[in-house]
Amino acid sequence: MIIVVGKEASKKQIDYIIGKISELGLKPLYLPGTEKTVIGAIGDERVLSQLNLESLSCVEKVVPILKPYRAVSREFRKQDTIVEVKGHKIGGSHFAMIAGPCSIESQAQFREAATRLKTLGISFVRGGAFKPRTSPYSFTGLEGEGLQILKEVKEETGQIMVTELMDTRDFDAVCAHTDIIQIGARNMQNFKLLKQVGQGNLPVLLKRGYAATIEEFLLAAEYIVSEGNPNVILCERGIRTFETAYRNTLDINAIPLLKQLTHLPVIADPSHGCGKRSLISPLTKAIVAAGADGAMIEVHPSPETALSDGDQQLNIEDFAQLLVELRPYLKLAGKEFPEARP
Ligand code: PEP
Ligand code: MN
Repeated sequence: MIIVVGKEASKKQIDYIIGKISELGLKPLYLPGTEKTVIGAIGDERVLSQLNLESLSCVEKVVPILKPYRAVSREFRKQDTIVEVKGHKIGGSHFAMIAGPCSIESQAQFREAATRLKTLGISFVRGGAFKPRTSPYSFTGLEGEGLQILKEVKEETGQIMVTELMDTRDFDAVCAHTDIIQIGARNMQNFKLLKQVGQGNLPVLLKRGYAATIEEFLLAAEYIVSEGNPNVILCERGIRTFETAYRNTLDINAIPLLKQLTHLPVIADPSHGCGKRSLISPLTKAIVAAGADGAMIEVHPSPETALSDGDQQLNIEDFAQLLVELRPYLKLAGKEFPEARP
């Protein structure tokens, strides 16, 4: 339920409504605005009928939310949510390019990747310390040592770091080292993990499960936002289809549909979305044309030696070329992209 309150409403009146929502066992969400304030009541909204909210003088309207997801829906909030990290924005007209190796493999490898990306103007750097791998015999990440490297490089370059959290027990350690927490495709429905990052303060980059519907994806985001963390970035990363010519099928449809259904920023990951280096450049242009608020691209100083996902990582030179080629697409899409230098 959305309760729209006029700008003349006093703090006492707003507190009264919020208090009543809590008393009835629902979760209140307070979204102040300059013209109107929106108060959300998340939960079984049938109980709200006993409050007769429309009769309160400060209440302009009470609107039920029809979708199963509430706080993340466009019905709940019309304007785009803009996630801001260290002065850099994702969402609305702000495009974010997140680049970096699949895994943090050593201090030298990650440092080289981050510093060379910095010379291209890249502010958001990715790198996995905990790696979800299909085979237990594959490289599963440097774990704590990887987090340490991430933090050292972050302090040296001042870039914004994104790394994956796979287990609730590593939550404090990951929070202490990164700027944005990634929840990977395999954990999109790890509800304990979602609740935990929802109770934290760091922005969350939530990747779509490769067998998850759009509704399941949005409900996973709802788990995070309904716990109190509004800073969620959705990432389409490819789904499983019958096609075996590439690793996954990047679901371009998902980008404009998600933008219609939710106010959260929507980015896409062409690297995992196809698994093939030669497709990354055209797919990145396609996601920009489809309205994405950002891209996550795997970039490695020497992909041929990479310990994970070597086939889909770009080298720095090819990534730099992609940035140049992307500029006209971003311009047409009306996106500001401070990172893309001429
Ligand atoms: C990753 O980004 O490193 C990753 C493992 O992605 P996904 O969870 O989408 O497979
Ligand atoms: Mn990878």
